[in-house]
Amino acid sequence: MSRATVCISYHFDAVSTWLWSYDSWDMPTRHSRGVFGAEIGAHRLLDLHDEYDADATWCIPGHTIESFPEICGEVADRGYDIQHHGWTHRGPSTYESREAEQADIERGIDAIYDLTGEKPTGYASPAWDFSEHTLEILLDLGFEWDSSIMTSDFKPHYVYGGWEAPEDGAYDRGEPVDIVELPASWERDDFPALTYTWSRPHRMGYVSEDSLFRRWYDQFDWMYEHVDGGVFVLTLHPQVIGQAHRLQRLDALLDHVSSKPDVAFSTMDEAASAFREKNPDPSAFRDDYFFSHRDRT
Ligand SMILES: [Zn+2]
Repeated sequence: MSRATVCISYHFDAVSTWLWSYDSWDMPTRHSRGVFGAEIGAHRLLDLHDEYDADATWCIPGHTIESFPEICGEVADRGYDIQHHGWTHRGPSTYESREAEQADIERGIDAIYDLTGEKPTGYASPAWDFSEHTLEILLDLGFEWDSSIMTSDFKPHYVYGGWEAPEDGAYDRGEPVDIVELPASWERDDFPALTYTWSRPHRMGYVSEDSLFRRWYDQFDWMYEHVDGGVFVLTLHPQVIGQAHRLQRLDALLDHVSSKPDVAFSTMDEAASAFREKNPDPSAFRDDYFFSHRDRT
């Protein structure tokens, strides 16, 4: 295993985020921001990754696959891994029933299968939301990994299931189940910091790119120095990071990562498999794993 693994994860929401997350069904100017991601941003990012020969994982809602089939086909044809991000971009906890949530996830699987000929192995939930049923659905449908949970920052682990949060008692985090988590983080996501949205004061956008990229350099460098076998998952959106003034900064970040000895760009699927190989038994998984940074073997 490399000293550090970098998983660049593109959440290719395109228009779906404006429809389901921002309720903008009849507002074409809002849709146009997603169309930019599909028609312009995604192409720029594919070219940049090709230059570095850097693997990436594209988590694509079925809605994007069916709305923009050409660019999604190009993502697949150019060899990038495609994984699950809902069919809609609706938060799992907003469904009225387990059946409705599962139907959306199954529809998303079908869309990816139709595009790639393969079932997705991993799931990143829309807006990193889980319902009380999500984990069970993922297990039932044979998913092997998820990237939505923030228990850890740089160390993959097995997801804890069966949690309980009673109003009159202590929190019970549950027990590890057979889904590998590749840690997601709002701290390593471009959307909240850089995207102006008029309706949500906590998402005003316009954070300085320099400060945001500095945050990502600092996190990567700390992980590289302190966490053996760490996995750095960076979540980016083509409609956000694909803007002209951000591309050269992403280029420089890829260059910085590439210049470190013993660092590998990896698909999320490969990173999850590497963890599973080293830790084959979820029931043997121990809490102190999270704190034992120096565990290189
Ligand atoms: Zn998304």
